[in-house]
Amino acid sequence: MTDAAFSDLITAIPKVELHLHLETSLRLRRLSRRRQEDAALDRSHIVADPSLFTGYDRLRRLRYASRAGLISDALYTRKNIAAITAELIGEAAAESVRHVEVRVGGRRGFALLGVRGVLEAMAQGADSVRHLGVGYRAIVTVVRERGPEEAAQLIKDATAAVDCGVVGVDLSGDEANYPPALFAVAVGKARDAGLGITVHAGEFTGPAGIWTAVYQLGATRVGHGIRAVEDRRLLDRLRGRAVTLELCPTSNVRLGLVPSLAAHPLPIFLQHGVAVTINSDDPILLGTTLSRELAAVARAHHLDPAAIVEVLTAAARAAFLPARARAALERQVRSAAIPAG
Ligand SMILES: [Zn+2]
Repeated sequence: MTDAAFSDLITAIPKVELHLHLETSLRLRRLSRRRQEDAALDRSHIVADPSLFTGYDRLRRLRYASRAGLISDALYTRKNIAAITAELIGEAAAESVRHVEVRVGGRRGFALLGVRGVLEAMAQGADSVRHLGVGYRAIVTVVRERGPEEAAQLIKDATAAVDCGVVGVDLSGDEANYPPALFAVAVGKARDAGLGITVHAGEFTGPAGIWTAVYQLGATRVGHGIRAVEDRRLLDRLRGRAVTLELCPTSNVRLGLVPSLAAHPLPIFLQHGVAVTINSDDPILLGTTLSRELAAVARAHHLDPAAIVEVLTAAARAAFLPARARAALERQVRSAAIPAG
């Protein structure tokens, strides 16, 4: 199969995306730029080259360099939030995504429109493109460095917004200085309210953060989690408890966590029977898409299309949906037409 034919095949396979940030400010900037073609791009705010940093600091610099000083509060309208959500779903539909869980945690949007206002606008945007056939759900992201009190309030708002499609809570941000235990009470309330729990862990710090995410916070999914490879017993526990890793390979390469896609520990997880999914994380910031991620890891690790369908099936199984909807999604993924051989 040629490279182009392989990429076309991957694009056509029904897909599930579990780890995708709305990238609110980046998408708003893109939207507004398109509306005023000739607006000059102000780059004076770029104070440091992100590549001089590693890990979470590089992510922060990348995000800062991409948006700071460019987004006016006036862009944060319900109409614009609905528009960027509809656009994101349109992009997903173009690559045969059948279910997407979009996470949102931007403080500015929440402050300007209210948590509920943002989530309602996203749901409206999703509803406006329902005909595209992409299932949409929302995950509310709690940023660790904003502290346990803000987390508690945000989780309260999230649990009150299940009618807007909220199905889960995510913990992200500075793993090293804000361990999971700080958020155990707040996240416990989300769990009690029936929300799914996913935690960014084992990305910038070692396996301990994954152990505590799973055992202290009850996470059934872990964002990244790649440093679980350093701890065989943890791999056993992840497999035993059917915890799913939301791998985002390009993100890991761009943030300097692994030197290349070929060096990504994906095969170790597969060999160990740990449920793994592939995701795009911040597609605009990282210049990727879910199809590109899948095609790139398939090439780097010699996975055939059937193996890609297996990874997508794991994503369907781990979706924050009722059992029956998950089974239906799994059937859709498995219906992919894969040429023999
Ligand atoms: Zn992420």
